[in-house]
Amino acid sequence: MPDPTAARRLMVDSQLRDRGISDTRVLDAMLRVPRHEFVSEANRAQAYEDHPLPIGDSQTISQPYIVALMLESLQVTPNDKVLEVGTGSGYAAALLAELAAEVFSIERHVSLAESARNLLSTLGYRNVHVIIGDGALGLPDSAPFDAILVSAAALHLPPALPAQLRDGGRMIIPIGSSDSQQLQFIRMVNGQAVTSLRELVRFVPLVPGQE
Ligand code: SAH
Repeated sequence: MPDPTAARRLMVDSQLRDRGISDTRVLDAMLRVPRHEFVSEANRAQAYEDHPLPIGDSQTISQPYIVALMLESLQVTPNDKVLEVGTGSGYAAALLAELAAEVFSIERHVSLAESARNLLSTLGYRNVHVIIGDGALGLPDSAPFDAILVSAAALHLPPALPAQLRDGGRMIIPIGSSDSQQLQFIRMVNGQAVTSLRELVRFVPLVPGQE
């Protein structure tokens, strides 16, 4: 493939910065994480294009812009403990690992979880834990979290997730059916979930239970 560093810079400038992503920590993380490592050889040449790509098991690595938008909304800080639901390729988990102190990422497909875990370790990420399980249940033993990123679309908000946010914690999740979903941003304020509606999106569904 052409020089990945140049492709990544072009992606950050034309797909993210030009569309209004301005958080420099998010932009810098997206400049650093080698997205081409998270897709198969066959898709490598397209790794920095403006769309999702297949990663096996009928799942996809999300479009870079949508990942950036979700990360920017979460305002992750270097001391944060973060939960991701839907590890998939591990790409968003790597970005979160760049932004946060500690990342827990849950994936229901054993094969995806194992390859993401191996890749993240090979790339040197020591602050990410990939867990096989049902992300709709969250991870009560490691809660509370400062931020939760849900990378698959739920029909309804899984109640266990906002319950695992600390006060002041943030969460972003696509909600809706397969053809119509909207990002919901949730902030815990004095024990209450305050919700705002954001962009329309299209994600693979959140499937209950483990594989
Ligand atoms: N963040 C990923 C994109 C993942 S696509 C990346 O950067 O590549 C959504 C992922 O959510 C898929 O891998 C799918 O298997 C997973 N998923 C769906 N339902 C789930 C559930 N209930 N618990 C955990 N993972 C789930």
